[in-house]
Amino acid sequence: MLFGAHESISGGVFMALERGQKATCDTIQIFNKSNHQWRAKKLQPKEIDKYFELIESTGISVSVSHTSYLINIASPEPGLNERSYLALKEEMERCGLLKIPNLVMHPGSHVGSGEEAGIEKITENINRLFDALDDASVTLLLEATAGQGTNLGYSFEQLAEIISKIDNDDRLGVCLDTCHIFAAGYPLVDPKDYKKTMKTFEEIIGFDRLQIIHMNDSKKEFGSKRDRHEHIGKGFIGLEGFSNIVNDSRLKDVPMIIETPKGDDLAEDIENLKILRSLVKK
Ligand SMILES: [Zn+2]
Ligand SMILES: [Zn+2]
Repeated sequence: MLFGAHESISGGVFMALERGQKATCDTIQIFNKSNHQWRAKKLQPKEIDKYFELIESTGISVSVSHTSYLINIASPEPGLNERSYLALKEEMERCGLLKIPNLVMHPGSHVGSGEEAGIEKITENINRLFDALDDASVTLLLEATAGQGTNLGYSFEQLAEIISKIDNDDRLGVCLDTCHIFAAGYPLVDPKDYKKTMKTFEEIIGFDRLQIIHMNDSKKEFGSKRDRHEHIGKGFIGLEGFSNIVNDSRLKDVPMIIETPKGDDLAEDIENLKILRSLVKK
């Protein structure tokens, strides 16, 4: 199984691999550019060379990149919507350059325009994106959200609806975030409930779409619709919930990535990954 964490690219994209090694990751998630700026600095050949060298020498894979938080392809505001589309396209191209197989994105917020209008904007943009990009090596992943505010993508049905409206849907996958789906009202703790949640997922979306799982415990209670990540075992999902997930044979090939707060020494990542690995039953 592949366990890992989101690691910072501060100092250059290759630095994420050094951090991943320190944090005992098998695989990592990165931002492929600064996550709170529209502008992306061009990746320099030297930086890219060092990045591939480190993938080789550490044996750590980069299984996914996460889009900037500024991007909202559901936005009803034409300027912001176009800017989001262009930024998303650039991030897809950067993933291609860095040979990252998945780019994960929050579907978007309708900001008052209504769910139907928001979903229409999302699907228009994704269809346009796949038409514009010849390189099909990067899969775009829709991340399930907690349903906070006007965020879309909080139910398996809604994600399936978006997928159904995409022409080249083989270029689209999903990412489940344990904290988000738990907050959105999908139980994970009791083994019977967990089975039911995953059966619903299988029926509505299907495991073939599932490329990445974000492993975050939840600071907020079940169904809270609040997205607040907690360290593994310290929140409302608890060790029971994570034990269900790491021992589900259908998920054994899906990279599991933590996105929890940490200091510069990455001690929290090391501890969280140790806990996750210890839950796997032989
Ligand atoms: Zn996530
Ligand atoms: Zn989150």
